[in-house]
Amino acid sequence: GDDDNLFDVERPRVTLADVGGLVEVKQRLELAFLAPLRNPQLRGLYGKSLRGGLLLYGPPGCGKTFLARAIAGELRARFVSVSLTDVLDMWLGNSERNLRELFQAARRNTPCVMFLDEVDALGLKRTQTASTGMRTTINQLLAELDGMQGDNDGLFVLAATNAPWDVDPALHRPGRLDRTMLVLPPDAPARAAILRYHLRERPIAQIDLDALVAATEHWSGADLEHLCDSAAEYAMHDSITTGHVRMIEQKDFRNALRDLRPSTGPWLETAR
Ligand code: ATP
Repeated sequence: GDDDNLFDVERPRVTLADVGGLVEVKQRLELAFLAPLRNPQLRGLYGKSLRGGLLLYGPPGCGKTFLARAIAGELRARFVSVSLTDVLDMWLGNSERNLRELFQAARRNTPCVMFLDEVDALGLKRTQTASTGMRTTINQLLAELDGMQGDNDGLFVLAATNAPWDVDPALHRPGRLDRTMLVLPPDAPARAAILRYHLRERPIAQIDLDALVAATEHWSGADLEHLCDSAAEYAMHDSITTGHVRMIEQKDFRNALRDLRPSTGPWLETAR
């Protein structure tokens, strides 16, 4: 039906090892969610519940979606991802119906990690004009998260936003998105890991990785991926014009670095 393009159900192959950096975020995830899931007996002993979800926030392109997908991979769970801007519909009742169908699909596919991107789109602050309709939609989401519309066993909800200050406070209550984690641009070791990850399947000559890491302070994971792509483009273009296939070299990265700028700057400025 129409809703096939609203969300897909995937079986991700990536795991947390593929996510570069975010060491503290991964540690907190392990403690709060992964260890309790893997150790049901200890969970019983300590009375640790599996309720609750996680809100990731930070500048664009730093791995929020990638991390959510990797958690699903780690748990061998299915992954359902949707942007709340796509769920919202101007026609009365459609947003609620979209949410209901989303959660029903996830419950049919447990164990399942659900990823709600751009949750700030549901903030009342963003849409003072349409606030009655918006309240209804928020209430529907809260009821779904609280398990009032169906059993949430085996369903783990993650959400993300670039604008945490716009997220409706009711979403933060215990049992809902009750943990918040900041996903910042990668530090130097993380940038090295991310570059290695995005170069792992490309023909690479001797590359000065440390120089690349030093030249990319404040770059996001997505920016670094784009850098690798752009360097590959230069090498490929050369291969086509000379008729001689060669490896990706340092000079290709120099060329790519000349064209590109990090995308996280504006976010870090406004968030300050
Ligand atoms: P947005 O706020 O724009 O949704 P995001 O934080 O969800 O951004 P992702 O979509 O996860 O960012 O990242 C975009 C791409 O950048 C990923 O698919 C991945 O290839 C790469 N990337 C980002 N962060 C990392 C990381 N920590 N390790 C490896 N790759 C990364």
